[in-house]
Amino acid sequence: MLAFTAKSLYTPLDHIERPLLLVDGRNIVEIASRSSKALPPNTPLTDYGDDAVLVPGFFDIHIHGGGGHDVMESDASALPIIQKTLARHGVTCYLPTTVTAPMEDTLAALDRLATAIEKFEGNGPVGAQPLGIHLEGPFLSHVRRGVHPPSNLLSPTVKIFNQLWEASRGHIRIMTIAPELDGAPEVIAEAAKRGVCVSMGHSDANLAEASAGFTAGARHVAHVFNAMRPLDHRDPGILGEALTNPQLTAEVIADGIHLDPVIVQLVFQAKGLDGVALITDATAGTDMPDGRYRLGTFEFEVKDGKCLSDGKLAGSILTMDRAVRNAMRFAGLDLQQALRAATLNPAKVAGVGGGVLKAGAQADFLVVNRAGEIQKTILRGVEI
Ligand SMILES: [Zn+2]
Repeated sequence: MLAFTAKSLYTPLDHIERPLLLVDGRNIVEIASRSSKALPPNTPLTDYGDDAVLVPGFFDIHIHGGGGHDVMESDASALPIIQKTLARHGVTCYLPTTVTAPMEDTLAALDRLATAIEKFEGNGPVGAQPLGIHLEGPFLSHVRRGVHPPSNLLSPTVKIFNQLWEASRGHIRIMTIAPELDGAPEVIAEAAKRGVCVSMGHSDANLAEASAGFTAGARHVAHVFNAMRPLDHRDPGILGEALTNPQLTAEVIADGIHLDPVIVQLVFQAKGLDGVALITDATAGTDMPDGRYRLGTFEFEVKDGKCLSDGKLAGSILTMDRAVRNAMRFAGLDLQQALRAATLNPAKVAGVGGGVLKAGAQADFLVVNRAGEIQKTILRGVEI
């Protein structure tokens, strides 16, 4: 058994002063305050000091790559590099996210990702753990496709969804789809029935079409404001639904590029502290010098902090630790409030655990200072 303490601990909903976090093997066995629980005999105690807060590891539910690699690459060395890059920035679990590609490439990538999820070796500090897949495309709008290749976009059918589902061996946890496409309501209903969190995005939906998507079973909105019909006071569109329906969670890319800081504040005010999931939408260019990188099956350029392909934004080089600090600054949140959007909220969306510190959970946690800077990452009870 190992014991950890610091100034405080955020579960993230609860706040414990002078905590005692007990870990046995790879799991948390108990969380208490030091005033209520004595250190068990023969248990080494690591004290991270008076500026340190213990918080759950971040859960990134929309991330395409990092450290020079993309999650759809066939090379087996790619994913471990991405996972180490993620862990350096406090992400302990994630959903590798596909982009639209030729069907055979997508099916092969889903099969490889399913294997990575099933075979993930949790016995060491190897990096962030893939807990499921976020399928972004091919059922997206041509009008709001962003950089997704137009020739590979498909009209939604349950038959194609079944092919994707089978290739993933049931590991698709989120599927982003444009709800206004012909056939979308049937596919949304079918995916929701299988426990997939259906996310509306890359969409030109008007308000009625977005509401119909929700009625069919959608519960989430991809990178809100990006790749969707803009908000207009007489034609509110998908954003009218996204911002006012409390049963929809919204993804926010808080890099200061995809959304103006005041829009990040607006989204937090509209959705509340439990309605926002911070995502990075990060690409292979993350933690790398400027240059050309791959996203799925195409190339883009990283220059001056932006990822661009044909003049359009192609994801980000944002990291989750910076996203949390930006959310604090942009939306006027304290650390505990901002943390919910990087831990518990995305974990609820994904529905596969993670995002909370409690007895029985995997011992994936971070030591952060008051400013939200990461001091240490602990994966499955082991400090990296
Ligand atoms: Zn996207």
